[in-house]
Amino acid sequence: MARCSACGRIMLGGIRIDGYRYCTQRCRKSHALISVSDMIEPDVINAFATQIHSGPCPKCKGSGPVDIHKHYQIWSALVMTRWSSRSQVSCRRCALKSQAGGLVSTLLLGWWGFPWGLIFTPVQICRNITAMVRPPNPAAPSDSLKRLAKLQLASRVSSPASPRQP
Ligand SMILES: [Zn+2]
Ligand SMILES: [Zn+2]
Repeated sequence: MARCSACGRIMLGGIRIDGYRYCTQRCRKSHALISVSDMIEPDVINAFATQIHSGPCPKCKGSGPVDIHKHYQIWSALVMTRWSSRSQVSCRRCALKSQAGGLVSTLLLGWWGFPWGLIFTPVQICRNITAMVRPPNPAAPSDSLKRLAKLQLASRVSSPASPRQP
């Protein structure tokens, strides 16, 4: 088992480039950014992650802590079922709103497909509830927030619009 170098998802196989592994073509596209991001000092990444974590919420502009929160949805129509998991950078209050929204729409729209709607609707309900009752540690940035901070720094460094930035 390996982890995708871009999104951190656990996967089998994947696409390999220069010792990195990616789960999908979409993640593979971040390779240039990720190889740049590995040259950034961990202290710089941690400082930037802490800055996001203690800054205002990007959604409501309210006070933090800000972190990456997930919410899950599913909808079905006869034999078709679609499920999704989304990440959002926000404060806990905004996260709870999205998770509650995901929960309600899953409860209303998830069941109506056979067989996957019946199987995965309870899974998505549990995932939303787990995300609601077990938020990331409010005292420190989570690993996924650090990963995001690292990529944001890398995109600043590699952006041709700001060549003189240190
Ligand atoms: Zn990935
Ligand atoms: Zn917020």
